[in-house]
Amino acid sequence: MVKPKKFLGQHFLKEPRIAEKIVEALDITGSTSVPVLEIGPGTGVLTRLLLEKKDINLHVVEIDRESVAYLAQHYPQLHNRIHEGDFLTMDTRAIFPGAFKIIGNFPYNISSQIFFRVLEERERVEEVVCMLQKEVADRICASHGNKVYGILSVLLQAWYRCENLFKVSPGVFNPPPKVMSAVIRLKRNERTKLDCDEARFQSIVKQAFQKRRKTLRNALKHLNLPGSLDTLDLMDKRPEQLSVEDFISLTRAIEQGENVRRI
Ligand code: SAH
Repeated sequence: MVKPKKFLGQHFLKEPRIAEKIVEALDITGSTSVPVLEIGPGTGVLTRLLLEKKDINLHVVEIDRESVAYLAQHYPQLHNRIHEGDFLTMDTRAIFPGAFKIIGNFPYNISSQIFFRVLEERERVEEVVCMLQKEVADRICASHGNKVYGILSVLLQAWYRCENLFKVSPGVFNPPPKVMSAVIRLKRNERTKLDCDEARFQSIVKQAFQKRRKTLRNALKHLNLPGSLDTLDLMDKRPEQLSVEDFISLTRAIEQGENVRRI
């Protein structure tokens, strides 16, 4: 057995029924040889079920050498498809040149970082099914107007349809984590581009939520925004009241105002 290591966020799922529900949540219909990357397989509770699915071309990435050795020994058919390393820095293109899906019981300490990587790779990451800390799951899936709506909600929902599927209690893990868990599914939406500069959009969203109790007018004051924004109704709202589309319109209004100011 692999001894769980806290610093790697290792909480091994003990309950086969929950592992089945997670694997079933991944959409693999309508295609054969669906490229799927499992992040953090550990001792393979999900891996075993994924390998049973004939239509999946499964690769796994695991940072823990001891787990890698365990997987190699118990799942010889995974040979050559076990990648020892850090998902956050790996080159996924070397494994899947085209589109692929992600599944995993994520290491909770890096789940937000995993999603920032997903965002960078969104043209290739079609779907994500994962277990993570319930608090982060709720945030990712929250709509505007909800008090947990935040940076990850806006940035991910700009590109993905996010669904909160079910909750999982600590008792089904070894060792039990201190927090509740949840399983979510993200599916790429129809959007192909933002109608504004993307880096600017991200920066506005981040800065707005850094002062989430303030109106945008106050939260973004330090940016010395063009005067044309003074009359914009959105500026009197708080960030959690803005939909993804509102944040896009706001960024566009800022860009247009700056262009006018430059002339
Ligand atoms: N899927 C297993 C293990 C989940 S625990 C189960 O459900 O039981 C999270 C796993 O992610 C651990 O095996 C841990 O070693 C691995 N891990 C942690 N950081 C990682 C990283 N940066 N890249 C890849 N795997 C990582």
